[in-house]
Amino acid sequence: MAYDNTNIFARILRGELPCQRVFEDEHTLVFLDIMPQADGHTLVLPKEPAEFITDLSDGALQATILTTRNLARAVQQATGAPGLLISQFNGVAAGQTVPHVHFHIIPRFPDLRLRSHGREKADAAELATMAEKIIVALAHQR
Ligand code: 5GP
Repeated sequence: MAYDNTNIFARILRGELPCQRVFEDEHTLVFLDIMPQADGHTLVLPKEPAEFITDLSDGALQATILTTRNLARAVQQATGAPGLLISQFNGVAAGQTVPHVHFHIIPRFPDLRLRSHGREKADAAELATMAEKIIVALAHQR
């Protein structure tokens, strides 16, 4: 299907909409989910315009997976979560709500249920505090 250049993540990538950014390089952008299913819920995007993972070039996919691995470490360190759920949806039928490829990194704790997908906006100040923690954890990896 043709890529919809007006989707929310395309607009964030163009800088037209704000986000709680935690990382950016030539090929990827990482920011916090505005409606987190758990504290520290992070989204990793390729900059290449693509709706499904199957639409991505090899280079964009490699960069996105590497960024996801690095951010997963930082999210785990920042939240102290003993587990991480990493997920990626392709198409409305699979539950994708924003048609630009992205990986979810969601901290998991035993007995702590996830909040609903894309349902409730987090407090902006709490998101900013979490973003800062992840940025610090990322800096300590280098
Ligand atoms: P999907 O359902 O496509 O896999 O995931 C889209 C995610 O984007 C959802 O978890 C939802 O909470 C998040 N989201 C939707 N709109 C925005 C937004 O404007 N900013 C941010 N940071 N996240 C968003």
